[in-house]
Amino acid sequence: MSRLNAIRGMNDILPEATPRWQQLENTLRSLMQRYGYSEIRLPVVEPTALFKRAIGEVTDIVEKEMYSFEDRSGEPITLRPEGTAGCVRACLEHGLTHNQSPKLWYTGPMFRYERPQKGRYRQFHQFGVETFGQAGPDMDAELILLTARLWQELGLAESVSLEINSLGELESRAQFRKALVTYLEQFRTQLDDDSQRRLTTNPLRILDSKDRGTQDILKGAPVLSDFLDEDSKQHFSDLCQLLDACGISYRVNSNLVRGLDYYNKTVFEWVTTDLGSQGTVCAGGRYDGLVEQLGGQATPAVGFAIGLERLVLLLEALKPEPAPAMADVFVMAMTPAAVTTVMSLAETLRQGLPTTRIVYNCGGGSFKSQLRKADKSGAQLALLIGDDELAQQQVSIKWLRGDQQEQQCVDLAQALPTLQLVFKRGDEL
Ligand code: ATP
Ligand code: MG
Repeated sequence: MSRLNAIRGMNDILPEATPRWQQLENTLRSLMQRYGYSEIRLPVVEPTALFKRAIGEVTDIVEKEMYSFEDRSGEPITLRPEGTAGCVRACLEHGLTHNQSPKLWYTGPMFRYERPQKGRYRQFHQFGVETFGQAGPDMDAELILLTARLWQELGLAESVSLEINSLGELESRAQFRKALVTYLEQFRTQLDDDSQRRLTTNPLRILDSKDRGTQDILKGAPVLSDFLDEDSKQHFSDLCQLLDACGISYRVNSNLVRGLDYYNKTVFEWVTTDLGSQGTVCAGGRYDGLVEQLGGQATPAVGFAIGLERLVLLLEALKPEPAPAMADVFVMAMTPAAVTTVMSLAETLRQGLPTTRIVYNCGGGSFKSQLRKADKSGAQLALLIGDDELAQQQVSIKWLRGDQQEQQCVDLAQALPTLQLVFKRGDEL
């Protein structure tokens, strides 16, 4: 039979890698608790119309990256390419923004039909935060502060840097767009193909172009900040002041526009030079118009999303993790006759030592091979019962680490109190 493989760009995260993911997820969860944010869990599929309306018809995501299909009843549905649209949809559906200003977080897989490469996959994971009801720059600042704290706690503070910009309001952006198009039209044929196409569809995205020639042309282009409305200017300078006061360094990047239509005022990215061209690990901004655009009452909002694969890549490059210990105690039956006694001993120990990892070696084996497994498990000690121990109703304790390599024998009933003494400190943690 031929073998079936995973879909291109959709990765298995193997047991050797999951400890790193779990550590990252735990850090994120506890950080959110400390800042007073609540978790929301959202469906992985949504109506296609939701993303078209939220993200914008002429964005990269909607034009060419969505996994869209019809379900069995002909409903157009899409595997979510990002979390904001679904989060806003859920808030409206359940009245979460009604007289409340929720601060929410979520994490999970997102799907985009992109060319798979390092740091870019077709199924990837985001951790996202969305906050509603706060129009002031203190909200924008808090999001940036909590991401800065995250890098610090992950040991990545030196690896990433912050870029911020203001897109202004829709009207100021429209004026800028006009000026930009007028300017770029003069150089139409010298622009790269994508940018030529964007000139009519989404000209702001041209600012993002990596093409050398286009970048050179852009050097003489009008600058968005010259078109900003007073309110946006004030908001941005207040934000900068807050960041300065809290000791956050940043670079104002006037070409930072982000790929989604719904942003206004603040946009920001945390970037790294350690991941090649997939350098953005966290991206976000304000989207004060989106709630209304999706049928709700006008509600200011600001959020961000982190690409978890890119963080994991950064963490791995920084400090390759040794294989973590899987067990504290490794329990083995040296004879088939001892299996019942050993399994029930293991359960007694788990009952009395709820935070100690007690691993039972299924399938038995020779003394040598079982001991090799015990050693590999990283356990502090092995418990074993053979014919002799069984006859005496005893258990042998073999120390596996440190200088105490010796073996001792205790009565079965003494096994739990003995281990409780050994692991007391661990249980209190
Ligand atoms: P990029 O410019 O790298 O394509 P984007 O602007 O499309 O990013 P967002 O939609 O803002 O990205 O998503 C937020 C974050 O999610 C990104 O900064 C990145 O870390 C991560 N991300 C986006 N697309 C992918 C992908 N295909 N694979 C892995 N991570 C991704
Ligand atoms: Mg993209």
